[in-house]
Amino acid sequence: MLDVGHDELLRRARALDLPSAHHIGGVDEPGGGSSFAAVSPRDGRVLGEVPDAGAAEVDLAVTAARRAFDSGPWPRLAPAERGRVLLRVAGLLEERREELALTVTLEMGKPVTDAYEIELRAAIETFRWYGQLADKLTDEAPHTAPDALALVTREPAGVVGAVVPWNFPLTLASWKVAPALAAGCAVVLKPSEFAPLSALLLGRLATEAGLPPGVLNVVTGYGPRAGRALGLHPEVDVLAFTGSTAVGRHFLRYAADSNLKRVWLELGGKSPNIILPDAPDLDLAAATAAWGIFFNQGEMCTAPSRLLVHASVAERVTDAVVARARALRVGDPLDPATEMGALVSEAHLGRVLGHVEAGVGEGARLRAGGSRTLTGTGGSYLEPTVFDRVRPGARLFREEVFGPVLAVTAFDGLDEAIALANAGDYGLAAGLWTADLSTAHKVSRALRAGTVWVNCYEEGDLTVPFGGVKQSGNGRDKSAHALEKFTDLKTTWISL
Ligand code: NAD
Repeated sequence: MLDVGHDELLRRARALDLPSAHHIGGVDEPGGGSSFAAVSPRDGRVLGEVPDAGAAEVDLAVTAARRAFDSGPWPRLAPAERGRVLLRVAGLLEERREELALTVTLEMGKPVTDAYEIELRAAIETFRWYGQLADKLTDEAPHTAPDALALVTREPAGVVGAVVPWNFPLTLASWKVAPALAAGCAVVLKPSEFAPLSALLLGRLATEAGLPPGVLNVVTGYGPRAGRALGLHPEVDVLAFTGSTAVGRHFLRYAADSNLKRVWLELGGKSPNIILPDAPDLDLAAATAAWGIFFNQGEMCTAPSRLLVHASVAERVTDAVVARARALRVGDPLDPATEMGALVSEAHLGRVLGHVEAGVGEGARLRAGGSRTLTGTGGSYLEPTVFDRVRPGARLFREEVFGPVLAVTAFDGLDEAIALANAGDYGLAAGLWTADLSTAHKVSRALRAGTVWVNCYEEGDLTVPFGGVKQSGNGRDKSAHALEKFTDLKTTWISL
């Protein structure tokens, strides 16, 4: 628990020693001279400069990773040894939890309480979980011909390029890096240009925990230059990407245009949250719908951004969500009492406001919010926003907003609800509220989504995989399934 107040957190945030160099080959590497400003969306202030990597700097990082993989100790260590290093990373993340939470909050605007309690907890648990898993895996020796011994082993896949977004900069980086390292791979991590600082700290901290040089490299830079160079690099074996569907397409092209590296995509979403009239607790369903869309400023791939509610309870549920939206405390993300912080940038706020405008233009009814707020701060803040009477087919119904904007659509029958939920390009997650066990199973089976939450939303832990179907992607983060991304199956057939 963060046990200090707003003023003290402001003081500690100002005193942070923020990184300003890539982390390559186990050392800080200043880069080739070109840099960009890390700007805090809480007040528009420049936090510092970080290197703007071009192809040469990405090549330096990939070369360091290649060397670490091809001839360094990491892939050859006993898995238990690798696990111990990952556990030390988890321990250092725990020790530096406050510094890292403040850095995440400063760079991307989420409330510091959420950064500390949720983002950092997830990152710590991820390294701990894969550290503990590293030596619990077994290979196969199938029953085969009597004069042969067959072995099916999982081999580390090589050099992994990990490209991640800004909304959960440490959690999502950890979801790639920890299983890749547990598998014995070497990694080049390219964080978002909107959240480069916490990832650089992670790189330093991993080296401090005893990771050999070159096993985890962090390069900062813009997507179309640094991200592209990593996607096209012929010495990268696997590219694990989390981000928008549009950029996911680029990575498939980069692979096709280079070495056919394996590409894993975790992409966008427009998740439906279905409330049936027999929900066990309608007030809880409404409160969770509101929490889900406003948590992390709505900048969630899984945000339940389409509330599909049965017509018989639509008014009651929508009124409750609207009341919650109006009561939500939007404020300085460094204030531990703040419930919703700043959107990541002015440009992103402009895009979200464009979606609000489209909603009004398309005839949806604006029930709460819709305007920017806290304008005197210099930061990028938006009121929690709720539209109802959103028509299926409207932009607000189809397009990912990635902001605190809820679209409510009423339905009459269960088949209609399922058809509405499955409409569209995405298939990341879905929510369902019903007290009927058989309805829960039938609807869950019918929903095309990587995760279905029944009578809850955003619940889960490291034991279950996370990822999407349709244009929400193909890979799975978390759980032992994530190791499949970072390993290759090898068959050895021995004639006896
Ligand atoms: P984005 O796709 O713009 O950027 C993601 C990463 O790709 C960044 O590191 C960026 O620098 C890089 N990039 C951008 N353009 C590139 C290019 N042309 N070539 C190579 N790299 C490039 O996404 P974002 O704005 O950072 O994040 C928001 C998106 O991420 C949303 O669509 C959200 O749904 C998605 N997301 C998905 C998940 C998931 O697990 N499925 C989780 C979080 C966020």
